[in-house]
Amino acid sequence: MGKNIWIARDYLKCSGCRKCEIACSLFHEGKIWPEASRIRIFMLFPGLEVPHLCTQCDNYPCVNSCKFNALSINEKTGAVIVNKEACTACGVCINACPGKVPWLHPKEKYVLICDLCGGNPKCVEECHEGGWDALKIIPKTVLGFERKNYKLYAREPEDVTKELAKVIYGEEVS
Ligand code: SF4
Ligand code: SF4
Ligand code: SF4
Repeated sequence: MGKNIWIARDYLKCSGCRKCEIACSLFHEGKIWPEASRIRIFMLFPGLEVPHLCTQCDNYPCVNSCKFNALSINEKTGAVIVNKEACTACGVCINACPGKVPWLHPKEKYVLICDLCGGNPKCVEECHEGGWDALKIIPKTVLGFERKNYKLYAREPEDVTKELAKVIYGEEVS
């Protein structure tokens, strides 16, 4: 478990370029297909971009909620792995996730969840090459991480946007 990683996101650095969505879909689907990306960028308020992806909760509510055993944990990376054949696209894991992160594939019958690209996240590479560094790989062994990640990052984009608006503009947004 010592090699488990996690992708931290710095919302204030995200430009909204969406190259991460392109990199993710290219790697997993073989073509540029943002609708099938495991990372999604939400712009719910002008100027506030929120990268949204799995945060590998320490208690994995999604994995535990699946009655079809379609979700498992990669011991090396800590990522949630979707068994495409077993998944029925019932959506129970989406409701179980505190951030509503799992996302239905636009054409196939299974959910999309970040698999950390097997340990070499393409989205992070692309974000770095673009000079943004809004995404960063953090080892899960960082002290106290396990207690922090679930609360801070497994949240719906709407909640993150509201909090960002308060920080940046000092105003509540509806
Ligand atoms: S590549 Fe980085 S800067 Fe561009 S949208 Fe994705 S997270 Fe934001
Ligand atoms: S963020 Fe959501 S999809 Fe990721 S491990 Fe937590 S419950 Fe599962
Ligand atoms: S780590 Fe890989 S699977 Fe996860 S969002 Fe980034 S590109 Fe997609």
